[in-house]
Parts: sequence; C-alpha cells; structure tokens
Amino acid sequence: MKHITHWIGGAPVGNTAEGRRGDVFDPAVGEVRGRVDLATETEVDAAVAAALAAFPAWRDTSLVKRAQTLFAFRELVHTHQGELAELIGAEHGKVRSDALGEVARGLEVVEFACGIPQLLKGGFSENVSTRVDSYSIRQPLGVVAGITPFNFPAMVPMWMFPVAIACGNTFVLKPSEKDPSASLLMAELWRRAGLPGGVFNVVQGDKVAVDRLLSHPDVRAVSFVGSTPIARYVYETGTAHGKRVQALGGAKNHMLVLPDADLDLVADSAVSAGFGSAGERCMAISVVLAVDPVGDELVEKIVSRVSRLTVGPGDDPAAEMGPLVTAAHRDKVASYLDLAADEGATVVVDGRDTPIAGGSTAARTPGFWLGPTVVDRVKPGSAVHTDEIFGPVLSIVRVSSYEEGLRIINECEYGNGTAVFTNDGGAARRFQNEVEVGMIGINVPIPVPMAFYSFGGWKASLFGDTHVHGTEGVHFYTRGKVVTSRWPDPSHGGVNLGFPVNG
Ligand code: NAD
Repeated sequence: MKHITHWIGGAPVGNTAEGRRGDVFDPAVGEVRGRVDLATETEVDAAVAAALAAFPAWRDTSLVKRAQTLFAFRELVHTHQGELAELIGAEHGKVRSDALGEVARGLEVVEFACGIPQLLKGGFSENVSTRVDSYSIRQPLGVVAGITPFNFPAMVPMWMFPVAIACGNTFVLKPSEKDPSASLLMAELWRRAGLPGGVFNVVQGDKVAVDRLLSHPDVRAVSFVGSTPIARYVYETGTAHGKRVQALGGAKNHMLVLPDADLDLVADSAVSAGFGSAGERCMAISVVLAVDPVGDELVEKIVSRVSRLTVGPGDDPAAEMGPLVTAAHRDKVASYLDLAADEGATVVVDGRDTPIAGGSTAARTPGFWLGPTVVDRVKPGSAVHTDEIFGPVLSIVRVSSYEEGLRIINECEYGNGTAVFTNDGGAARRFQNEVEVGMIGINVPIPVPMAFYSFGGWKASLFGDTHVHGTEGVHFYTRGKVVTSRWPDPSHGGVNLGFPVNG
C-alpha cells in the first residue's frame, strides 16, 4: 500500500504521531490504493517554520536567479508530465489526455512566472519635488499558503505557487486529501530544479491542517480554491486572523444559445464542456439555455453525440470520460436524476445505464461510475438547475428570449463562467456587457483565461478582491512601498515644520 507523506524543508516527512491517515482510492476500481498522512498542528507548524526560516534568503535571491530556478522547474515538469498525468489519473480518475491537459495549463502559469523580472518592475518619478525622487516597489509577503481542491491536483496548485515563489515568498501547499500524490512529485521537481529547502512545502491533510494554517500567526496570505461553503469559511476565518485571502468557490455555468447559432458547434461544445472530466470542473457547462425555437433540434444533436461517448478508466486510450472521484460523490450526483423526475424534468439520457468500456479488467463496478446524463425541460429555480451538481449531468432549460436567459444567469448564486453562442456580434457584445459573471466565452464553451490574464468569478464563486495568476496574482503575493528620496544638497532649506508640499 502506497504511503503518501508531507514535504517539509526540502524532503519527505511522515506524521510524527501515528493514527491520522486517510484512504486514497483508485476511483476506476473503487479500491483503496494508498494511505495519506493527515497533518496535525505539529506538522503544519513544522512546515510553516521551515518556510519562515527559508524566507529571508529567498526574498534576497536575485530576480534573475529566481527566474532561472523557475525555468529549470518548467523543464522538469515538462519532462515528467507523463508521470504527473499518471498519478493524477490513478487518484482522480480523469482520462490521460485530460490529465495531460491540466499539467499543460499549469505549466503556462510557470512560464508566466518566469517573466518575474519584468513583472516586478516598479515605477520611478524624477523630481516629484525639487531634487526629490519617488519610486514604487513591490515586496513579497513572507509565508503564504495554498489550499486546493481534488479536481485539478496539479493545475490549481500551479495557479498559485509559481507566482508566489517567483515574487519571493515561501509557500505551504495543502492539497486535497483525495488525490495527494501529484503534490509530492512537484515538490521533488522543485528540489531538482535547485529551489532551496523550505521555499516550497506540502502538508497533507483535512480541516485540522486548514484551520491551523488559517490561524497561524506566521502565515501572511492564503489562496483557496474549492466549494463555496468552504471558500466562505476560509475567507471569513483567514481575514479575521488578519490574513490576505483570495477564496475561489463553486460554480454553475450556463451556456446561452441564441436562435442564429451554429447548432452543430453548440452541440459539440455543450457535450465537450458538460462531460469533460466527468463534469468535475469549475468551468464545466452544466446548464444549456436554449432560446426558442432551437430546443428540440439542439437536444437531438446533443443526445446523438452523448450516445457515442466512451466511458472507461483512464488507462484505456479509447476512454473519453472516467469515473467520479468517490462513491459518496457519485451517489450524490446520481440522486439528482431521481430528483429531476420529481421536479418535472425529463431525463433523456440516464448515465446509470451507461456501459463501462475497456481498460484493465478490474475496472468495473464497484468503481465510482456514472455515465453522461442529459436532463431536458429543467425548470428554472429547481434544485437540478440551481445546485452545483459537479458531475456529468447536463441540464437543458428552454427559454423564450435572450432577456429571459440573461435574467436566469444573473439571478444565479454563482458567477464563475458562462458562454453565449451566436453569430450576431452585437448580441454577443451586449451579453458580455450585461452578464454578471467573471469569465465569459463567446462561441467558446470553457473560457479559462490564459496565465497572463487572471482567473476568477463573481458573486459566490469568489470571496476576496483579487483573482488568481496573471498580474492580479503578482499583486496578491506582494505589497507595495513608495520611497521618496532626497540626497543631501548644499541648498537644502533648513528646519521647516510645515507639512511637506511640492516645491
Ligand atoms: P472542497 O471545498 O470540499 O475542498 C477544497 C479544500 O478544502 C480541500 O483541500 C479540502 O481538504 C479542504 N476542506 C474541505 N472541507 C473543509 C472544512 N470543513 N474546513 C476546512 N477545509 C476543508 O472542494 P472539492 O470537493 O475538493 O473541490 C470541488 C469544488 O471546488 C467544487 O465546488 C468546484 O466548483 C470548486 N472549484 C472551484 C474552482 C474555481 O476556480 N472557482 C476551481 C476548481 C474547483
């Protein structure tokens, strides 16, 4: 049985006390394949102490040396992407192409962070007053923490730590306890890249570790990605302890289909964005708002595509969609199929009937399987429409107009991503202006911003003021100083008790 440890001060470290361990499953076969140490306060304190000890030297390491370490890390992650994808697939269940895609999107943030000498340039003004100069600089915060969800065990941590470390901070990552192994390979790759011990640390764990990070006096800032109730809790608790917090929460993403849209493009996009990674993506499309009269034709096109999908374990090259992450999550998602019927909707494709293809022979029930499911005529405001289901369930809501569709999106509790499909540029422009959502796609179903833009939603999808990565990420992990300087000059005017004004 695999034993998954912490990573503190540049080396793997096990729990000091026996007993706190969690099961790590292979979701395709439904069996425990590893045991992960769950940190107590002792391990969290040790990780924060290691990060604090490493901070003074790292913050004083030149920008060029920091960038060189990031370039080396980038090369190593690139070289080991297959190994990372394998670890992700084995614990999360996603298919290999999807796991490789997540590593690639994470690497883009590392590549962005390689530009840190440019990103940290300050401003300089000569002669703000006579012979007085002013300049602004941004400095690292110190020890910062990242708390991440199960659905992207490599990419979401890489939204955070490359930028934080490039800015001169030291980092403590608390990954999801459901798929913890990728974090340790990334730690090992940092070590090989020459990052000094203590700059990047991992504490495995659950609420105990999170609570200690949120109250630890030496943790200056916390980045969180996960579900909305926990994001709200992390934001409120962290800020109450005086920390800077960005907490990204859950989502319920709508695709608005206007009658002039290309329905084949819409159907391809809805199926890809609804069922990729078994719907366990915060940018998945989970609701299609079909503006009259396209509903019937669109549902037909979606259903014909869904019936051709291959569901199977990640080690089957033909598989397009894998299992869900845990049995409890699969059961919760499946419960919405009964609820849909109770709420007056029509289940037109029932994922409980989907055959599971190929792969290793062991990959059959009791793996955590649920096939792609399509629910038509979902009523706006019903639980199937409003709850974040976070699984392979695509709802179709029929609407009579653009205005009705827009109102439904804007009344949604979440505001992470959305998409409009149309060939009318004016309608698309109006949508981007009127919709209350942070990330918008125009004929693009999963509009995840590139690393040099920032990622984040509105409303209950983000607590805090700053989105992750891009220039907002650099801002989050640094604080500003403005220096006003005058060098001694024989013409200085002597004592003056007046308030400094421009002269
Ligand atoms: P989660 O909220 O259950 O867990 C996220 C992290 O919080 C994990 O590290 C977990 O150990 C920790 N945690 C869980 N319960 C806790 C508690 N009671 N107290 C303190 N910490 C706790 O989320 P998940 O199930 O791992 O991930 C799926 C969720 O993440 C979905 O809601 C999804 O929309 C969201 N998500 C959002 C984004 C985004 O960018 N907005 C990206 C990815 C995932």
